[in-house]
Order: sequence, then C-alpha cells, then structure tokens
Amino acid sequence: MSDQMLLEVEDLTVSFDGFKAIDDLNFYVERNELRVVIGPNGAGKTTLLDLICGKTRASGGKIKFRDKDLTKLSEHQIVHAGVGRKFQTPSIYENLTVRQNLELSSPGGRTVLSSLFFRRTPTLTARIDEIAETIYLVAELDMSAGLLSHGQKQWLEIGMLLIQDPELLMLDEPVAGMSVPEREATAALLNRIKENRAVIVIEHDMDFVKDIGRKVTVLHQGRILAEGPMETVQNDERVIEVYLGH
Ligand code: ADP
Repeated sequence: MSDQMLLEVEDLTVSFDGFKAIDDLNFYVERNELRVVIGPNGAGKTTLLDLICGKTRASGGKIKFRDKDLTKLSEHQIVHAGVGRKFQTPSIYENLTVRQNLELSSPGGRTVLSSLFFRRTPTLTARIDEIAETIYLVAELDMSAGLLSHGQKQWLEIGMLLIQDPELLMLDEPVAGMSVPEREATAALLNRIKENRAVIVIEHDMDFVKDIGRKVTVLHQGRILAEGPMETVQNDERVIEVYLGH
C-alpha cells in the first residue's frame, strides 16, 4: 500500500437480521483524494459511512485509518482520531452568529457553556477568517446563522467540521436542495478542502458528480460494482443496468 493511503476498509461486513447491508467490502481512499460514492437507494452508502464513523458496528472486517482500526474505537474516539462527518440536515446554532458557530465547533469550543465566555485567541480568529473565506461566508461572519440561505447553512456546517481539522471528511449529499451556482461553488469548495486530507461524498445528483470530476465508487447491494473516473463508470454496462433497473 502506498504511503498516501489514509483509509483502508478490508473485508467489511455488516448484517441487519441476516441481511448483509455491506458485504465483504474492500474500499481504499488516499490522502488528497475526493471520492464520490454513488449507487441506487439501499446500496449501502449511508451504512458504509455509519461504519467508518462508528455509528454502526461492523459484523466483520477492518477499517484502518492511519495506524488505527476504527472498528475498535468509540464514535467519540473516531472523531478524535480525525474523522469528521456531515449529515444531510444541518445542525447549526441558528440563534448564534456564523463566527460563534465556528468558535463553538473549534477544538475545546464544545466545552464552553456560552459563547459569551469564549476566549478569542489571535490564532483562532485567523483560522476562522481563513475558513470563512473557504466557505464563502466572509461577509456573513457576524450575521445570525438563522438568516443564511439553505446552501450557506450547508457551507457553514462544512466550516464547523473544518475547524476541527479532520484528516477524513465525510459528507452526505451536500448539495441537496442547492441552486446550480451553489452546487458549482460547492464542487470547487470540496476540491479545495481535499488538500492534506481526504473527502468522501455520498451523492445522488449526477450533475454534481460530473462537476466534481473525480474518482467514483459505485455501490450495489453492499458491494463495489464499479470504480474509476465518472466517464468510465457511467458507460459501464453493469452500472447502466443497475440504474435503469433491468
Ligand atoms: P443507501 O444509503 O445506499 O440508500 P443504506 O446504507 O441506507 O443505503 O441501506 C442499505 C440497506 O441496509 C437497506 O436495505 C436498508 O434497508 C438496510 N439498513 C440500513 N440500516 C439498517 C438498520 N439499522 N436496520 C436494518 N436495516 C438497515
């Protein structure tokens, strides 16, 4: 395996009442990679991310992340090891400003009872400015997060993960409900933040998958059906069959 390998999922299996939602899966993601996982409903995409972040426990197999086997760690330990996950519904504090949301998500910020007592260090302020630029929210930093558009809320949540500096970031349908310009901006954003880490995105929106233009993994019945650049995958007979359902 190359030194660039960040995540090595080997022989991973999980069964729900005897039904294998993930079936002996091998899945590898390198550093600086932006991987898109697609597949029809029920293919096992969400379950795969749930297994990586410890929300669901594996029945068998390993999830090697750097030098750790994530199947042996708690959800909290997995976050601490450097894995961040964004779910589809944003979980931001609507009554706080964008800046306060980022502050509370910074390492140590979660233990602060109220943002009023938060100690602003120059390093944190600089980091917040840098993240605000990445997530296109410089002008909105001191605005209440509840006033942001749907797309901006999604970006804020990505920023709230970035401030913890995860080495692996997993996003569940980040462009659902976004306008076309927001979708294109998100593709650019994800391509930028993959530097020095890896990003895994579950996606249904094929236009977005094309915008991202990266390696795609197609899941079907808990297994990898095809893997490669979108242009190759979309012409694969098996993939076409699964999507067209015949
Ligand atoms: P996808 O995200 O690709 O749509 P999921 O990972 O949500 O697919 O689901 C894969 C399969 O596993 C589905 O058949 C789903 O019904 C089943 N499944 C997922 N989670 C559970 C669970 N907690 N209990 C029972 N079955 C589950």
